[in-house]
Amino acid sequence: MKLPTHVTVCEVAPRDGFQAIHEWIPTEKKVEIVKMLASTGLTSMEITSFVHPKAIPQLRDAEEVVRAMQDQQEIKLRALVPNVRGAARAIDVGIKKLKLMLSATDSHSLSNSNCLVKDALEGMKPIIELAQKHDVAVGGSISVAFGCPFEGKVPLEKICSIIEHYQSLGIHEVSLADSTGVANPQQVDHMLGVLVKQFSSVTFSMHLHNTRGMALANAVAALQQGIVHFDSSIAGLGGCPYLPGATGNIATEDLIHAFEQMGVRTGVNEARLLAVARQVKDMIGYDGGSFLLQAGPCSQLHQKPTSQQKLG
Ligand code: ZN
Repeated sequence: MKLPTHVTVCEVAPRDGFQAIHEWIPTEKKVEIVKMLASTGLTSMEITSFVHPKAIPQLRDAEEVVRAMQDQQEIKLRALVPNVRGAARAIDVGIKKLKLMLSATDSHSLSNSNCLVKDALEGMKPIIELAQKHDVAVGGSISVAFGCPFEGKVPLEKICSIIEHYQSLGIHEVSLADSTGVANPQQVDHMLGVLVKQFSSVTFSMHLHNTRGMALANAVAALQQGIVHFDSSIAGLGGCPYLPGATGNIATEDLIHAFEQMGVRTGVNEARLLAVARQVKDMIGYDGGSFLLQAGPCSQLHQKPTSQQKLG
């Protein structure tokens, strides 16, 4: 198997995970979790979303959480922004990288952002102008890129035309999101085979939800296509508050463990990460189906049976 030697993993639980939890997580608890995550060797984190507090009350303390991380220079923070108001809030508090939200289909866009895809793209112009004025980086994303819960399969031409539009806006980083966990490895291989060739100047990243247990297989398919940027969520926290039955991203500890087992370096301290995953699970009160939290890493050996004990 020909794989890249190094990848970067962006921790998204503080945004994608927390936003799916209805019970209020106190700001101090959020800050404690993001600081623990920053101590694992992870180099980037999607720390929050600057949405309207009424849309996602859980993230109404976005500014406070970002401010508490100002002394943490070793981890790059990015924030999701749905509009120019959110972008201004993020920039004001010192965020250096914005991630834009966009759906691949009109149905998902209407349910998520109450506008059509073309209008959402149009609405990005003032956000990008504001970011440029403040020397802040901007990345794009495409939700439900591999299939939409309302419209089913998304034609590849549609994804290509969105990426072209992003390029025309000066965006050269695009996160492809399997928001409802419908992608399969064959599809990921095919799509990325086309996109990587057609858009050689675009940096793609994968945002995979594990709704149907296919996220890790999809990550490996993406790796084989040379993708080196992945999102994941500690303890598999997350989901989408607008989509029934949606579950979290692939668990960070599962993704990092699998990559490291394959010799793909992540720069993350696996033992520390697993300890943090366990602590986060205890603090939040549940996990999103993390395998490592159940089974432990492959390197964890069990006590050998004595001669009296039956093997097997
Ligand atoms: Zn997501």
